[in-house]
Amino acid sequence: LDIEEFRKAGYAAIDRICDYYYSLSSLPVKPSVSPGYLSHHIPKTLPESSEPFNHILDDYTKLILPGLTHWQHPSFFGFYPTACTFEGMIADLLVSSACNPGFNWASSPACTELEVLMMDWAAKLLGLHSDFHNSSSKGGGAIQTTASDSALTAVVAARSLYARTHPTVPHESLVLYTTTQTHSLGLKAAKILGLNVRAIEVKAEDGYSLRGEALRAALDEDLKNGKHPFMLIATVGTTSSGAIDNLPEIKQVAKDHPSLWIHIDAAWAGVALSCPEYRDQLYHAEINEIATSFCTNFHKWGLVNFDCSTLWVRDRTLLTEALDITPPFLRTKEGDSGLVIDYRNWHLALGRRFRSLKLWFVFRSYGAEGFRAYIKRCIAMNDSFITELKQTKLLELVTAPSLALSVFRISPSALASSPSSTSTEPTATLETLNTLTKSLYSRLTSRNDILLTQTVLNGVFCIRFVVGSERTVLEDVRKAVGVLVEEAEGVVAEWRK
Ligand code: PLP
Repeated sequence: LDIEEFRKAGYAAIDRICDYYYSLSSLPVKPSVSPGYLSHHIPKTLPESSEPFNHILDDYTKLILPGLTHWQHPSFFGFYPTACTFEGMIADLLVSSACNPGFNWASSPACTELEVLMMDWAAKLLGLHSDFHNSSSKGGGAIQTTASDSALTAVVAARSLYARTHPTVPHESLVLYTTTQTHSLGLKAAKILGLNVRAIEVKAEDGYSLRGEALRAALDEDLKNGKHPFMLIATVGTTSSGAIDNLPEIKQVAKDHPSLWIHIDAAWAGVALSCPEYRDQLYHAEINEIATSFCTNFHKWGLVNFDCSTLWVRDRTLLTEALDITPPFLRTKEGDSGLVIDYRNWHLALGRRFRSLKLWFVFRSYGAEGFRAYIKRCIAMNDSFITELKQTKLLELVTAPSLALSVFRISPSALASSPSSTSTEPTATLETLNTLTKSLYSRLTSRNDILLTQTVLNGVFCIRFVVGSERTVLEDVRKAVGVLVEEAEGVVAEWRK
């Protein structure tokens, strides 16, 4: 394409995006294609000669769109959201036009400088301690691709710190602590780095959160057996149930284990720190006191288009000591002067995308006020969901709701002999409830007007409902409750037969 052809094709592509968003709520949330569907439509090798661009764009609509799961659909209540905005899209388009790997200050000063500033805007929005601000010149933050990448970076830095401070300790004796509810990012980082992991059991009665005494027992036992605890990944908002590890208790344990690096993974829930009213329940004060590193994903519930995982460290040298390798071809006078940040030393790769532009666009367009209003709106919609769910008597929460997430199953009262009775049949065992909830989930997955996801909590099969799409309104939540009631009634009627 030349510039004028690009102008035309670009306008046409924006038109298609607008049409897509106008039609989004009438599209099925998920595709009904079979594995390999695309190979029937796309040739096995690239074309020898050029094709007209409008044909290519047409094929996007014809072949690709039908194979997409629409994460921005107002009835998408699965996983955790990837809330995205037009502001983010436009920023990404501009970033793509400059196409710039901005790995150090000199390679594109604006990329570094905007990221330095945006990470401080974000840190202030979330109320992170000033030690984490880039302006502190002590700690600071950098944008990574994903929370898994942020955790891996933190584990690399923690291992490197431990090796420097304990040079005689063999690598094989290091232990990374997670819980049975930690996202698989802990195991993945350990697998990549060849580290031992100990996943501490968490209990239903503790709301699946890590308690201090369980952590202390694990650390003491491992120390007694000659192992070396070097890092804990604590979670604020677990994937399955939004559980929040007990940071006040962990803080007490950490006092006796000063060399334990504490990484806090708040991939989903972290952005709710923007609202002062949720800070206590998210252990905001303890995050500020004990986190060696902290991560949240603005690309999940933070209105910024995928990908944008924000990672802060209390001491930036922890990253640079682990990751700074400077061959002559990467040497610059600004880097050598120490006056600038060279972000290539704050992450695993060399090149990095210019992700801060979308943060800047979203932050300015929404303002902190608009950002908080969106978070609160999602939580309020989940509150309405819970109120309606409880009224149905067909479904019950399995854990306390966490912000905009509810985890539920078929309720034993749905199996009561008469709808008005509160007594339950003796058959309402865990096995029965699991079977019926699985059957409900299977009915839901066979529909394409709604998307929820499943999980298992200590043997209990559950369904998760998360509000987070920027386009979801209360009416969509009500519709979702209607669908759940319809399908749950079907499950119970079948069971009664
Ligand atoms: N941590 C938590 C608590 C999550 O819920 C998730 C994904 O849902 C992740 C980490 C992984 O995020 P990412 O895809 O950014 O690696």
